[in-house]
Amino acid sequence: MALRAILARSSSHPAAPPPSSPTPSPTTVTAIRAASAAKPAPASSPAGGAYALELEVGLDAVRMASTLCEEVQAQLMRQDETADTKDDRSLVTLADYAAQAIIAWRIQQEWPDFTMVGEEDAEALTEGGEGGAQTLEKITALVNKTLAKHKGDAAPTLSSTEIVAAINKGGGKGGKGRHWILDPVDGTLGFVRGDQYAIALALMEDGDLKVGVMGCPNMPKTGEVLEYDSSYTYGFSPSMVTKMLAGESVGWYKGCIFAAVKGRGCTVEPCDARIKAAPTPVTVSDAFDPVSAKFCEPVMKANSSQGFTASVADNLGIASKPLRVYSQVKYGSVARADADVFMKFPKAGYKEKIWDHAAGVIIVEEAGGKVTDAGGAPLDWAGGRYLDTLDRGIVATSAALHERLMDAVSKSWSSSQL
Ligand SMILES: [Mg+2]
Repeated sequence: MALRAILARSSSHPAAPPPSSPTPSPTTVTAIRAASAAKPAPASSPAGGAYALELEVGLDAVRMASTLCEEVQAQLMRQDETADTKDDRSLVTLADYAAQAIIAWRIQQEWPDFTMVGEEDAEALTEGGEGGAQTLEKITALVNKTLAKHKGDAAPTLSSTEIVAAINKGGGKGGKGRHWILDPVDGTLGFVRGDQYAIALALMEDGDLKVGVMGCPNMPKTGEVLEYDSSYTYGFSPSMVTKMLAGESVGWYKGCIFAAVKGRGCTVEPCDARIKAAPTPVTVSDAFDPVSAKFCEPVMKANSSQGFTASVADNLGIASKPLRVYSQVKYGSVARADADVFMKFPKAGYKEKIWDHAAGVIIVEEAGGKVTDAGGAPLDWAGGRYLDTLDRGIVATSAALHERLMDAVSKSWSSSQL
């Protein structure tokens, strides 16, 4: 797999120098907090307005988590590291825990009493005997290495106890009030396969999503994200692939962070802080042409009925085959108009979790799109850790196409019930 070669190769590059910072070496957490709070809001649209600090912290946290995930994915591709299976049979890696820890730690610097609904908890690390303790040691080292890379002299060294506490901040129940929502590695199967994944962070207040930051370290800067089985390094041209394999500097070709603030739009910028590029506004597709239209859906048949989505696409007249992509990168694809529609219809009995959608949804909405359940209702973010009231499935598309999509879903639903 060419991408694996690229990943393996990039991991052999010398470690990135810490981003240069004029900040004089504050050594205490309070000093770091004061320094970062004193910084002006980033000169980016959607430059957060009332949520400028939340946006800045979210971007910083997700950027650090992206660095850490890229390192672990390269280790997995070289088979220096392996994934574990959780009680619910889903996969988990060092990166899932470490990304949750570093993001929770970063948020805590600004808001010590924050609450979070996050996917992971540290039980397997603290109650997992010697194996758990060894994994915790690796996670601690990885988080500290990443902090040092990003914060230079200002980086603290966290203890394994602090790491466990940070991971367990994700155990919030959610509901009304202000809560961060995090999937530290969304699409872990894609992640362990060297494919697409996302670091998905959102801020919700009383059921309203206010901020979304989504890191997509493998998402190409431009162009559609092809399904894994037929991918040719995600649509990069052969000459680009040759350059990448030769280790030539090709600038920003992959690695995207989407950021959205309620009422202020959505932008995309490079994951890699060393690449200087201003955040670029993104918008959903403005016209629907069934001939060129594309829809995306989960890769795994177990996660969504592919027969049903095919029927809905057929009702809309979409001729092309689906774009099957791991993780919330699908929402990013709709937000920047690589795809017109994202649909997911889980099997009966499956409970959707809020962290699998929150960041992606505000990103699509702020890019001009509309996301609802299959009955046309908005998703209920204040109902706890799960989307308990979800009607059948989730659809995301441009505001202009939404009604037609609803009609197509109804039509497919009636015929599938016959
Ligand atoms: Mg996850």
